[in-house]
Amino acid sequence: MDIEKKKWEVLCSEEDIANRLKQLGQQISEDYKGKNLMVISLLKGSFIFTADLVRNITIPVKIGFMTTSSYGHGKETSGVVSMLADVTDDIKGYDVLVVDDITDSGLTMKYVLDHLKTKNPASVKSCVLLDKPSRRKVELVPDYVGFTIEDKFVVGYGLNYGDYYRNVPYVFVVTDEDR
Ligand code: 5GP
Repeated sequence: MDIEKKKWEVLCSEEDIANRLKQLGQQISEDYKGKNLMVISLLKGSFIFTADLVRNITIPVKIGFMTTSSYGHGKETSGVVSMLADVTDDIKGYDVLVVDDITDSGLTMKYVLDHLKTKNPASVKSCVLLDKPSRRKVELVPDYVGFTIEDKFVVGYGLNYGDYYRNVPYVFVVTDEDR
């Protein structure tokens, strides 16, 4: 599908995202006050979300990265999660908040949470910009959610289509209509 020729429908505008991130940042700052917060950002999809989210967090925070497998060039998950790069920080004793762009089947987040728990953090929670609960294959409820959305393939604001379009500053869906 050549999405340049298709119609783009904005799902979360830059303003929607900025407003919601202010609220999320405030909530996280209150919840983690006095704790040892370490944000672990899942690459590549959450790099933009993480960058904007942490700038709305007003308490001290360490930031680490992990790379997990993604959808690749298609729209469907393979159902097999693999870790391409583990976190390099020692997370022992930290209150870890895993940040991802979207939770779809829930397989990625469950895999990452289970993996990080083996490293003895004080706590592990999850934060996603977008949640598609209707697509869940495992029991998982993210602790912080930006927007709950329907079962649509979304692109932009870090989310890729064929590894492109991550730089689009808003979240959009591609409709079948031609431009
Ligand atoms: P899950 O393991 O929950 O099925 O999927 C998590 C990963 O799949 C996300 O981090 C994201 O990279 C990718 N993903 C899931 N849904 C979408 C979507 O609608 N659009 C894009 N671009 N990626 C998605």
